[in-house]
Amino acid sequence: MTQVEKSAVRADLYEAVNGEWEQTAQIPADRPATGGFNDLVKDVEETLISDLNAMVAGQKDVPNARLQEAVKLYALAKDFDRRETEGMAPLVKELDEVAALTSYADYSAKWPEWALLGKGSPVSFDIDPDMKKATEYGIFFGAPSLILPEKGYYQEDNPQGPQLLALWSQMVEKLFVKAGYSAEKAHQVTEEAKQFDALLVPHVKSAEERADYAKMYNPVAWADFTKATDQLDLAKMVSGLVGTEPAKVIVTEPNYLAALNEILTDHFALFKSWLLAKTVTGNASLVTDELRILGGEYSRALSGSKEAVNHEKFAYYLTMSYFGQVIGKYYGETYFGPAAKADVEHMVHQMIAVYKKRLEENDWLSPATRQKAIVKLDSLGVQVGYPAKLPAVYDQLKVDDGLNLMGALDELNKVAATENFRRFGQPVDKTRWEMSAATVNAYYHPFMNIIVFPAAILQAPFYSLKQSASENYGGIGAVIAHEISHAFDNNGALFDEFGNLNNWWTEEDQAHFKDLAQDMIKEFDGLPFAGQQVNGKLTVSENIADAGGLSCALAAAKQEADYDPVAFFTNWARIWRMKAHEQYQQLLLSVDVHAPNKLRANVQVQNLADFYQAFDVKDGDAMYKAPADRVRIW
Ligand SMILES: [Zn+2]
Repeated sequence: MTQVEKSAVRADLYEAVNGEWEQTAQIPADRPATGGFNDLVKDVEETLISDLNAMVAGQKDVPNARLQEAVKLYALAKDFDRRETEGMAPLVKELDEVAALTSYADYSAKWPEWALLGKGSPVSFDIDPDMKKATEYGIFFGAPSLILPEKGYYQEDNPQGPQLLALWSQMVEKLFVKAGYSAEKAHQVTEEAKQFDALLVPHVKSAEERADYAKMYNPVAWADFTKATDQLDLAKMVSGLVGTEPAKVIVTEPNYLAALNEILTDHFALFKSWLLAKTVTGNASLVTDELRILGGEYSRALSGSKEAVNHEKFAYYLTMSYFGQVIGKYYGETYFGPAAKADVEHMVHQMIAVYKKRLEENDWLSPATRQKAIVKLDSLGVQVGYPAKLPAVYDQLKVDDGLNLMGALDELNKVAATENFRRFGQPVDKTRWEMSAATVNAYYHPFMNIIVFPAAILQAPFYSLKQSASENYGGIGAVIAHEISHAFDNNGALFDEFGNLNNWWTEEDQAHFKDLAQDMIKEFDGLPFAGQQVNGKLTVSENIADAGGLSCALAAAKQEADYDPVAFFTNWARIWRMKAHEQYQQLLLSVDVHAPNKLRANVQVQNLADFYQAFDVKDGDAMYKAPADRVRIW
């Protein structure tokens, strides 16, 4: 590890560690960013693409039947010669089916089947643990996604909104023309689709509102739910999906449900155009290469990526979206293995022990709340590397490569979605992962009270046996404790040890915690970044998790004989290394619940006395924050 200049750290920790790298780092043309997490993503991608290519070519054995299906899908998706020959026909067929609709009654008759196939729908349904009976799966109702990435883009004072909508329209009109529409018709359908989108905007939640988990829980009795609109047959739809009439539906977007009837009534023509636009944009990447590249114009404008990914990467990511668990398990077993799994499991349990000690010594919780917090921590489930087993549905996912790509995906969608919805009312399976083991990330699930660390994040600079203990604690240690802290952030704290939305706090402790969360909101709110500002409320839960994660990892590092605070804080700053296009940074500011990486690195250390000691940071230094302004929660 290169030595950082302490004087440079006093000015800007992130720059001191990453500045030199940032000057020369190149963002790949097909990506919005590089460095840190992105580098690991690229490594994993290269490894798995190389393995899949070797398996397709018969140069490498395919270890199991499930992976064999993934290999088949990868080969089918990568065969652009064949896609060229089949041409636009599969997409045109689907557009024709939508165009043939004449009424909502007509649409309602097809709705349940189309929902299983993943086609456009004015309502999104999902299966998740019931937030007040977390041992059982419930059915959730939500709103469809808007054209622009976030509600705020539609506000009059947002200059990007109209520009992006214009870009989207240009792209969609071109797609329709390629699918055989006249320029005039393409323009009309695109305009109508935007008009329907505009009807949705006032009634859906912003990213900030969606970040508040407790407000997701709005149970609506079946009789009331099914009466929400007379334009669509909600009863037939939901009972068809879950195989029974549920007693209630958990509505995550209550304003949208209330407005649904008004949105739909007298707007069938607009709705149909919206559905056509969803169909053409949703499938453009699955037909010819020309359409695939054209259909990515809008998302590239959002992220700043210069060009589309190549054929292999396209096929890889498409395959991951269906077989991510299967490929992830292969990745974990092949490149991570049982020894590393055992080693990291040990680290996680050590970190939980440190966390427990900190809770026991906590000076602002009452004994009653402290005890409940410890009960919750003791019940926390830990999953590392890759899942021991995968759901049985993977035995049913068969790729029919006699069909064209869209047809083969329809079959997969139908099997996967049917199994997903039929989980309604079944016991929750806490061993079912939400991420592939090949994902460079980690998570806490508040409804299950589990933390999960996929194999792909368990490598340098996060974790390596070649790094010192202090470096590993500043990397993976902080990530592990970050996920533990999510059990006690402003969202997680509302759920008990079983994952139920159930208040276990005394009134005074809760009030105090809310004040501390407010301090964290203030610490980040309005910080300038990428020509815009951080939203303190949108990012509060992640910032609380970062703060808890860093302070707990530091406590663990200090227990080691070779504790080195400079190495600890240097690696902490290194894991947040990222160079990104400005458009992408601005997109993240609007939609991402995490603060920008540079601020995650710099702001959190300013809350810790050990940072000031390690680098002799004094009043007057740019990195200095007065003790009264430092935020300390966990
Ligand atoms: Zn997090």
